[in-house]
Amino acid sequence: MEDVITINGKKIYPGESAEVSMSNMSFPTRTEIEVPVFVYRSLHAGPRVLFQAGMHGEEVNGVEVVRSLMKREDIQNPRCGSIILIPIVNVVSFLMNARDLPDGRDLNRCFPGSKNGSMGSRLAYDLMKNVISQIDFGVDFHTGGAKINNYPQIRCVFEDERNIELSNAFSAPFVLNAPYREKSLRREAAKKGKHILVFEGGESQRFNSYSINEGLNGCLRMLNKLGMIDTPVEKCESIILRDTTWIRAKTSGMFRTSKKFGAFVEKDSMIGKIVSPFGEKETFLFTPSDGFLIGINNQPIVNEGDALMNIGVE
Ligand SMILES: [Zn+2]
Repeated sequence: MEDVITINGKKIYPGESAEVSMSNMSFPTRTEIEVPVFVYRSLHAGPRVLFQAGMHGEEVNGVEVVRSLMKREDIQNPRCGSIILIPIVNVVSFLMNARDLPDGRDLNRCFPGSKNGSMGSRLAYDLMKNVISQIDFGVDFHTGGAKINNYPQIRCVFEDERNIELSNAFSAPFVLNAPYREKSLRREAAKKGKHILVFEGGESQRFNSYSINEGLNGCLRMLNKLGMIDTPVEKCESIILRDTTWIRAKTSGMFRTSKKFGAFVEKDSMIGKIVSPFGEKETFLFTPSDGFLIGINNQPIVNEGDALMNIGVE
């Protein structure tokens, strides 16, 4: 079989590099919707690895990770195989500084998509057809949602051995067993035998240097392990989490915690409090089990039931 990667009709052979847009849509003003894909191929056969970000338009940490990868010489000239980079999958939402598409759809619930569907469905279809079908595995970069800060973590399905190997190679501070979600990229890619790890780090609409660093180092560790680059990177020992549980607000008020993000917390320890702005009442929050503080709500004003802290259990 000919060793060629074809994106939107453009053929890219071993030893070549290219920038191609994977979409042919346009805005009502006729402006074309370009979704640039960057491909770097070695002359030597090897894995095809994708790093992509910006599935949700306001999750910028991953965009910075992929951008940082792109300008590196070792990435542009892999020793074997092919490296594919998509800094912003969802360019439309990125322009609007929004998570979802203009019609309210979440692009990560539009997979596998269809050729004649809604904008999200078409973007998903273009990604599946032009990229996912031609890779072996990849990492999809995300952040926490509105005001939720996630400690850098890889999410994958533990049942799949290859996922474990890849996440070991990446070595993020935490690795979580995360079941597939309906119509997500991860699920639809897995159906086609492609392994996609999800990296979560930081919060939306905000750069977080630690998360960006961990994301970048993880990609380099993974590529080192695969023999695609030869770059020394600091080691990191992942903590494996089998389960996670959210501590929710029992009452409305202002939320405060002094716990260190990422720290181990013991069962039944006081982890924060919700105070009434009028001073008469303080409600204390306790941990339901031993675990690590891997997600935190940075919004001070909370309503009853809001997710406040995510505890990861080993
Ligand atoms: Zn996301």
